[in-house]
Amino acid sequence: MKTLFDCKDEIHSCSKCGLCQSVCPIYKITGNDCTVSRGHFIMLRGLINGELKMSKTINRYLDLCLKCSACTDFCPSGIDVVDIIALAKAEYFRLNKTEKLKSGILKFILNSLHAINKLKALYFKIFPHKTFEKRVIYFGGCGGINNSVIQILNSMNIEVITPNFECCGFPFFVKGDMETFKKYMEGFYSVLEKYGDYDVVVNCATCEKTLSSYSKWHGRKDIRIKNVFEYIKENNLSLELAKPHKVTYHKPCNLKNFDNVKYILENTKNLEYIEMKDYDSCCGLEGIANIKERKIMSKLFSAKHENIRATGVKTVLTSCLACKITLGLFSWGKYKVQDFVEFLAKNVK
Ligand code: SF4
Ligand code: SF4
Repeated sequence: MKTLFDCKDEIHSCSKCGLCQSVCPIYKITGNDCTVSRGHFIMLRGLINGELKMSKTINRYLDLCLKCSACTDFCPSGIDVVDIIALAKAEYFRLNKTEKLKSGILKFILNSLHAINKLKALYFKIFPHKTFEKRVIYFGGCGGINNSVIQILNSMNIEVITPNFECCGFPFFVKGDMETFKKYMEGFYSVLEKYGDYDVVVNCATCEKTLSSYSKWHGRKDIRIKNVFEYIKENNLSLELAKPHKVTYHKPCNLKNFDNVKYILENTKNLEYIEMKDYDSCCGLEGIANIKERKIMSKLFSAKHENIRATGVKTVLTSCLACKITLGLFSWGKYKVQDFVEFLAKNVK
């Protein structure tokens, strides 16, 4: 697997133009160059050239990155900061016992979730579906199989196969535990091999982005990963809610195609969509884990919370399990955060 040292050219391609500063949510709060891509790359260049050694301080700055990719989308050199930060974290992970312990605990939690999800998968196997026109494989990730996704896809005459997949491995990737990330990736491919060549449908934006990156890390052929919203748009599924609802939407950083989601938000009858300010700014999940940086992170969460409150709506929709949990934690009971597909399945006529 690639290491930080393989990214030397990419890191050197940073022209230090500083454009990343204008979009980085953390830099906007700290004003510190070490917390944004430009500063990260200066430090990493030092590491690669042997002028600096990996340290707690460098790791602190890497941890402050939310992995939101806002700077990547804006960078004239097109540098993928999230990949590079993960590989830099892998260097710290290699040297640090505490990080390994934390990763072991996370693995234990996710394995326990997987055992519960196994039972859900069994349920859907026992109760067979009717005959459909098309067949897809559904990847539920840590959230397990969501009946709402099946309901929506079935309504478009699409049969949904529900293998018992584990986590996509994203939590380990961003922490630099590349060995565990690789194991999840291999687990995914071995489950997929049993089911044949169908589109893999996901509902969570982070799972979508991670599965789409597998071929880059694993070297195997691309898998066709599609978000459930692409199917709704492609099939011109006309949706109508049983009664009027007013909602806003938080765009997860990892969501590839917001146009599909926006199309559904704007074309579902009885659904009024109010766009919040900075609807695409990061929810700050990485910040939750970063309890040492409470001051910085509380500014980030307060801004999101205020933007939601300013819309005056009581329902916030999103399409990523991690965003749903993060926004829910900071809602202080003022609004409800729901998965968009779940919301649709529950409220359509
Ligand atoms: S926008 Fe890209 S090229 Fe410019 S300083 Fe930031 S990382 Fe470097
Ligand atoms: S990924 Fe997001 S938080 Fe990290 S440096 Fe880029 S803009 Fe800042």
